[in-house]
Amino acid sequence: MMQIQPKLTSVETSIFSIMSALAQKHNAINLSQGFPNFKSDPVLIQAVTKAMNSGKNQYAPMPGVFALRESISKKFEGLYNTSYHPETEITVTAGATQAIFTIISTFVKPGDEVIIFKPAYDCYQPAIELNGGKTISIPLKAPDYLIDWQAVAKNITSQTKLIIINTPHNPSGTVMSEKDMLKLQALTDNTDIIILSDEVYEHIIFDGEIHQSVCRFPKLKERSFITASFGKTFHNTGWKIGYCCAPKPLMEAFRNVHQFNVFSVNHPTQVALAEYLKTPDHYTGLSEFYQEKRDYFLKLIRHSRFKFTPSKGTYFQVLDFSEITEKSDIAFAKHLTIEEGIASIPLSVFNDQNRDDKVLRFCFAKTEETLQKAAEILNAI
Ligand code: PMP
Ligand code: GLN
Repeated sequence: MMQIQPKLTSVETSIFSIMSALAQKHNAINLSQGFPNFKSDPVLIQAVTKAMNSGKNQYAPMPGVFALRESISKKFEGLYNTSYHPETEITVTAGATQAIFTIISTFVKPGDEVIIFKPAYDCYQPAIELNGGKTISIPLKAPDYLIDWQAVAKNITSQTKLIIINTPHNPSGTVMSEKDMLKLQALTDNTDIIILSDEVYEHIIFDGEIHQSVCRFPKLKERSFITASFGKTFHNTGWKIGYCCAPKPLMEAFRNVHQFNVFSVNHPTQVALAEYLKTPDHYTGLSEFYQEKRDYFLKLIRHSRFKFTPSKGTYFQVLDFSEITEKSDIAFAKHLTIEEGIASIPLSVFNDQNRDDKVLRFCFAKTEETLQKAAEILNAI
């Protein structure tokens, strides 16, 4: 018998696949996997069609269509008053997931340590482990999920290669403050630590807060990659297109791997996005758009038995069910899907084993009709 020895054995099928399939099987309202159930702008869809009809159907340049990189560069200038050179510091990727995997593969060697904060988005740790790295997890404590910077300081060693941050934060819906960023800047100053700043929800931030991108802090910017996702911003998660930026030396190293990882990504979509991105209105209204949805959803469930702190960013809301049942979050999420007709994500899957904060994550990137139906179910529990 042939012996198969895969490298990645510590993981099971992603919770997003499991819960979406369970929702479908039981015809449940799916607030689990994070995707909108409304349409992307027809103008953008027509622009992709136009690009395909005009023959943009062969390989795009390896780092991405130049016009798109220029539009991304202008977006940074407009929003954060900082610049990334379109020629050397921006690369278009197959979603943020590929950028994250490629960044980790570019730098993490066996024995290197990578600091992540738990609960953590699910694609970080497998990529670290596939590259022989060691994950150093620092817990974010419910219900505020704040970073304990003393714990970070204690966990930085000569082996620390990378620190991965994510703001606005999936799954908790919290955001990092200016103070947090200054702490990170002070702790990494004069080190060789690289920062991967996962900012896929940069345009979804509530209550007048501003997004604290690493690029606002010059000493953080010089050691950081930012990853971004057009799927999250333009309501088309299925297109799997995003980008990352970093100072030239970091980006050169990234592209050495990217060229053998995907070489280049979907061409007509890039052509369309290059034009679409020139109108800032296409992304500056997103916070207001999603804040209305958050407020609508929370108002509807304010008398339910779930407890919550309103999400500060992302399109996720965590709900505490500790007053409802003693069940584990995984068992309760399955029960809600199968018996009550509503699917969510149990937070423990983003945590180390044995941590169960008794909270579930619900995606509110849905039509009012869907949110209303969801609220009716939640209110009756
Ligand atoms: N990071 C976070 C925090 C996410 O929620 C997601 C899901 N959009 C990704 C990365 C991956 O983004 P993409 O779908 O563009 O690969
Ligand atoms: N980012 C999405 C979420 O957090 C899911 C992406 C995926 O299915 N891998 O729900």
